Amino acid sequence: MKKNEITILGAGLIGTLMAIYLKRQGLEVSVYDKRPDKRQKPYDEGGRSINMALSHRGWKALEEVGLKDKVLPIAIPMYGRKIHDEHGGTSFIPYGKVNQAIYSISRGKFNQLLAEEGERLGVNFNFEHKCVNVDFRNQEITFETEQGESKIIASAIIGADGAYSALRMSMQKQIRFNYKQEYISHGYKELTIPATPEGEFAMDPNALHIWPRGKFMLIALPNPDKSFTCTLFLPFEGTKVCFDKINDDQDLESVFKTYFDDAYQLMPDLKTEFFKNPTAALINVECYPWVQGTSILLGDASHAMVPFYGQGMNCGFEDCSILNGLIDKLGTNSWSLVFEKFQKKRKSDTDAICQLAMENFVEMRDSVSDPKFIIRKKIEAKLHELYPNDWIPLYSMVTFSDMGYAEAYAQGKLQETIMNRVMADPLITENWNKLDYEDILYKMETSKAV
Ligand SMILES: Cc1cc2nc3c(=O)[nH]c(=O)nc-3n(C[C@H](O)[C@H](O)[C@H](O)COP(=O)(O)OP(=O)(O)OC[C@H]3O[C@@H](n4cnc5c(N)ncnc54)[C@H](O)[C@@H]3O)c2cc1C
Repeated sequence: MKKNEITILGAGLIGTLMAIYLKRQGLEVSVYDKRPDKRQKPYDEGGRSINMALSHRGWKALEEVGLKDKVLPIAIPMYGRKIHDEHGGTSFIPYGKVNQAIYSISRGKFNQLLAEEGERLGVNFNFEHKCVNVDFRNQEITFETEQGESKIIASAIIGADGAYSALRMSMQKQIRFNYKQEYISHGYKELTIPATPEGEFAMDPNALHIWPRGKFMLIALPNPDKSFTCTLFLPFEGTKVCFDKINDDQDLESVFKTYFDDAYQLMPDLKTEFFKNPTAALINVECYPWVQGTSILLGDASHAMVPFYGQGMNCGFEDCSILNGLIDKLGTNSWSLVFEKFQKKRKSDTDAICQLAMENFVEMRDSVSDPKFIIRKKIEAKLHELYPNDWIPLYSMVTFSDMGYAEAYAQGKLQETIMNRVMADPLITENWNKLDYEDILYKMETSKAV
């Protein structure tokens, strides 16, 4: 039986980045994934998001492993949200300061770039190896392969095998393992706005487009081929507009013409795509402990979140960076010590971002269409401009800084309470530019002290 030094389960975004970090530490790294090698056998992502938003925490990790400059050319900056109302009107809400952006990136291309970098550094990739069990006493992993069952022994195991992690399943059989999962009422479906016949983007490419409609929404992110990947978030059932009630072309046309007409005009393949593409579910997973001896869960395997803060991958990349920092500090003589320290340091932060991701769904699908929301954002931007270190909007703390998510959450709640009071003024729409900003900051500072 083969004995590996470090074994990573999952060659997704988090598994491959972690492999790169470990290889740079001079370790022998083997990665196993149940899927085929995409370069040899292209496969359907099976409903997983086609593109995603990469922000500060992700970039920071990429910079640490020297990959930022390789990734930048395949990423498109989005400087704010472009809100589409039901009458075809649009408004723009910046994400942060001028030039602050989140970046749209294709999952497939990005994953391939990371895998190629891993291979270049000497990571040993093994595809079509589905982990079916981990025996913690012997550190023995069992895989299903085309040739039958195979087993390996691993000194240390990192489970980066996603929201339905096999390593986590094995941990669930251990004593005192806490596990919580929740499917939200909404699912999603991916659709396309292709490039125009002239080969141009059909909408502004430097924004994340949102069609907020209260209980549901459509969003669109740009792709380098000048198309947009749209994601439609609807309840599965039980409401006037839901997946269950869209059963034929007529139902579909009626929903899109009523709620998303400007997008509908740009979607020639809507009918084919809608009924062909899968409707995927959205899950939140929280569990603890993440460590069993010298095995640890990382990324979605330990904290899968709903996608409404655009942080799942960014948070997973930050996991890799923090784990690498602990290896720098503590060495590799005791994996259980490194892993223990990691889970203690990280758990409160991942709980906070899971919670924030749930809460941001309401903001994206509903609040952004409220004119008062735009005023609120302007007041917060002004506060940030005047007091850059003392008032940082929650979105900026999460997206454009590496402040711990738990600290950002607590600070954000404090600011929210103060802002709720400011926004309660019935004349705020007229008066927002004449506010006593120093007094607002003072109120926030004093309530912090209480
Ligand atoms: C609709 C949607 C939009 C999103 N948008 C964003 C965004 O904008 N920004 C952001 O930061 N995050 C976003 N996310 C979250 C992001 O996709 C995940 O956080 C990220 O993919 C997690 O990476 P991972 O490597 O932990 O897991 P995964 O990407 O799921 O990879 C897990 C890997 O493990 C393999 N595997 C699974 N089981 C086994 C097994 N038994 N044996 C061997 N291998 C196995 C799989 O084949 C896969 O390759 C979004 C998610 C969704 C659903």
